Amino acid sequence: MSAAPGPVGDPRTLVVVGASLAGLRAVESARRGGFGGRIVLIGAEPHLPYDRPPLSKAFLDGTGDMPPFRTERTLRQELRVDLRLGTTAVGLDTATRTVRTTAGDVGYDALVIATGATARRLPGTGRLRGVHSLRTLDDAHAVRTALDAGARTVVIGAGFIGSEVASAAHKRGLRVTIVEALPVPLVRAVGEAMGEACAALHRRHGTDLRCGSGVAALEGDGAVESVRLTDGTELPADLVVVGIGAAPATGWLEGSGLTLDDGIVCDETLFTGVPGVYAAGDAARWYNPLLHRPMRLEHWTSAAEQGAVAARNALHPGSPEPYGCVPYFWSDWYDTRIQFVGAVAADEVRVTGGDPADGRFVALYRDGDRLAGALTMNGQTEIMKYRRLILGGASWDEALAFAAGRRFGARTTGKVPVRAT
Ligand code: FAD
Repeated sequence: MSAAPGPVGDPRTLVVVGASLAGLRAVESARRGGFGGRIVLIGAEPHLPYDRPPLSKAFLDGTGDMPPFRTERTLRQELRVDLRLGTTAVGLDTATRTVRTTAGDVGYDALVIATGATARRLPGTGRLRGVHSLRTLDDAHAVRTALDAGARTVVIGAGFIGSEVASAAHKRGLRVTIVEALPVPLVRAVGEAMGEACAALHRRHGTDLRCGSGVAALEGDGAVESVRLTDGTELPADLVVVGIGAAPATGWLEGSGLTLDDGIVCDETLFTGVPGVYAAGDAARWYNPLLHRPMRLEHWTSAAEQGAVAARNALHPGSPEPYGCVPYFWSDWYDTRIQFVGAVAADEVRVTGGDPADGRFVALYRDGDRLAGALTMNGQTEIMKYRRLILGGASWDEALAFAAGRRFGARTTGKVPVRAT
């Protein structure tokens, strides 16, 4: 193996660890860019790479299935990938450029790490049947089976995934309760004011949302039977879905010499600082040159884009491209699409079109005299316009003038006099 990757077309080895969205995009971008060397894709799950967002949406409510992103034939024959599924990376030796796996060592010239994130678990709840998190296809099968059986469902955590699970249970006509420790759902992602609009969405659909509630214990003999809250309330449950966030899957990199700090620390080109090693997706904490700060996102769009850029830069280390983005995510609750762009840290949140009470509106986030973020509910025609404004550094006044011109929804403007965070 050469000490550093040369020009595209050399017989070299690109290893990608993590066979999901970012890993797949890394492979595809390498081939699209003309890389003719060997590609090894290592994935801990036994499944072909698949898309995660439907796991908590159509797959759970029973309206959709889970085809893989690409067939095995496409991966092995068209993309010429040496596919190692059911194989877990357990260590990295950067001196010898070797990934240690449960199925032996794999040498690399260039390495893209895309091991994503794993769901956080409630301590001490692993022994009970019927208690699940939702990160993988196997998790989703278990949750769907319980919903098929008409489970009384308690969701712990009113974040994206918890709220989508509740929504799927509701669509099936099942009774569902959400227990959330914070005062409103999604407070970290959209701020308190708009978190309240999200709470209202749950309540409009009859979901029993209990904010400011802590979980004292999950009760049951073998299988879960109830959730006991800190105020003594007992919630009967056959299914408990724990949606309390995720942590970057970087445990296997301890001691490797990579800098780990809530993710794999990278520069704006997704370079870890260790020759040949790049990171992408939910596992990467990179410096976002557009927002001038390091961040780790758990969003589909940035994971996909980072995978492609990381592979490109890993194969062309002499001319790396920076990756910057205005963060974007979406989430589907009941009949509502929630979309957010930008940053939540803001001095003011203002509804500029529609009405939160109708579940259809645009809200803008101000940071100083700039537009920092935008949230829409059922505003699919609007959201990317605000992303472009943020990208272009629009001032608050420009954003308000733009919003006034859009005339989205019946209502004109209304200020929500609360902090966003
Ligand atoms: P992952 O998708 O987490 O993939 C990492 C892969 O690496 C996994 O297959 C894992 O098994 C593997 N791996 C981990 N450790 C190792 C190891 N040591 N060795 C080998 N393999 C390893 N985003 C949105 O913007 N909108 C949504 O609506 C949305 N819905 C979502 C719903 C669900 C249920 C989930 C779980 C996520 C959702 N997301 C959504 C987030 C989005 O799916 C993620 O941002 C995206 O999947 C990240 O891709 P990734 O490739 O970085 O990581």
